[in-house]
Amino acid sequence: MNVHDSEKMAGILKAEGYAETAYTENADLIIFNTCSIRQKAEQKFRSELGRIKVLKSKNPLLKIAVAGCIAQQKGRDIFKRNPHVDYVFGPQNIHKLSAMLTTNAMVCIEDNPEIQHTNLPAERKENVKAWVSIMYGCDNFCSYCIVPYTRGRERSRPGQNIYEEIHELAEKGFKEVTLLGQNVNSYSSDTNFPGLLRKIDTIKGIERIRFVTSHPRDLSYELISCIKELPKVCEHIHLPLQSGSDRILKLMNRGYTYEDYIEKIRKLKESIPNIAITTDLIAGFPSETDNEHSMTMKALRNIEFDGIFAFKFSPRQGTKAAEMEESINEEIMSQRLNEILGLQDDITLRKNESLKGTLQEVLVEGASKTDKDRMTGRTRTNKIVNFVGDELLSGWLVNVEIRTAMRHSLEGRLFSKHSLDAYGLDLKHKVKHL
Ligand code: SAH
Ligand code: SF4
Repeated sequence: MNVHDSEKMAGILKAEGYAETAYTENADLIIFNTCSIRQKAEQKFRSELGRIKVLKSKNPLLKIAVAGCIAQQKGRDIFKRNPHVDYVFGPQNIHKLSAMLTTNAMVCIEDNPEIQHTNLPAERKENVKAWVSIMYGCDNFCSYCIVPYTRGRERSRPGQNIYEEIHELAEKGFKEVTLLGQNVNSYSSDTNFPGLLRKIDTIKGIERIRFVTSHPRDLSYELISCIKELPKVCEHIHLPLQSGSDRILKLMNRGYTYEDYIEKIRKLKESIPNIAITTDLIAGFPSETDNEHSMTMKALRNIEFDGIFAFKFSPRQGTKAAEMEESINEEIMSQRLNEILGLQDDITLRKNESLKGTLQEVLVEGASKTDKDRMTGRTRTNKIVNFVGDELLSGWLVNVEIRTAMRHSLEGRLFSKHSLDAYGLDLKHKVKHL
């Protein structure tokens, strides 16, 4: 979400005549788009902000802005410790960026009840895949989470605006969109989320539709049918579980039990047998016992996710969980996190290995960053695939035979068209074959 917010800031600045520089010391304006989801992100920002202070003495015209969730949370206080900062604005006030720069307004952190109607011109770096905001804010107040405090109330963007933006992206040659929201399953405007997907699925030129993040409580059977039936909606869902213990889930205010979650997973796997499921987990939530941690481990073994993001609990000022007693000590927290990551590594590898010998539809994104002769792309299930191929394949859907499986990626061989029949492929939709 922050990456896309940065693209919006870049779009506004481009329209104002700014150009991007690769060298920080050449810049006349530096914006820090900050994240405060965990302490680690905050620390990174603080050390960077200190590091660039010296640039101001070299370039007296230099302006420094702090944006994002830390800006929203700390507001004016940022100036106290950092007098070299000129502007502070939160994620709900990106549209005011150009006015801010000309009027010398210093702080913009007010709530923006009209955010769903602001259509900002994002300047995207990639040209195959694009992020598209469909909603802003969050009303869930999970007890550990800062997002509802920094990004404000949940607001859904009108379907027509989303449709028009994606239509334009398709005309520019984009092939994939990822719809963004903290809880896309509660999208509600002129239509609900499945309705929105149905509409986007009709846009010519777009080949793949993804979305993040789904909240397990609001995952409907109607959405499951959409993933199954709509040709462009990819067979992958990111469904954050957070913990395998009902007591902890309750303390987290997640609104579902482990059994509720499993029921939805069952339904997903039953309807879409090849679906990839990924999740988020928090290790060491306050008062989590060894036994409760084991329940999370057991959930990993039972569900066999395709991938996970796991984090140590990080107390965020102002949230309920930050006030909870019985915090878990750092060492135990690290140990639990390592156990989770270690177990999942084996599962991910095993799952990736099961793809060896299969043919996968890959949307080619471009040359691999580490090896120019190799192309990189993703399967519909969101797994990274590298293969030897030509840069001209960028933006094309190709078939790749998987030869080698690793934890974080797959390697394969570009497959020629005439051999497809051997696999008896029934591709879900038209593929531009070589
Ligand atoms: N809206 C999404 C999550 C957005 S935050 C959802 O509800 O699924 C992304 C992930 O960061 C969360 O799923 C959670 O696992 C993690 N996270 C959020 N706050 C955290 C905290 N205080 N400490 C540790 N992890 C946290
Ligand atoms: Fe945070 Fe929960 Fe909202 Fe996700 S759903 S952004 S975890 S409050």
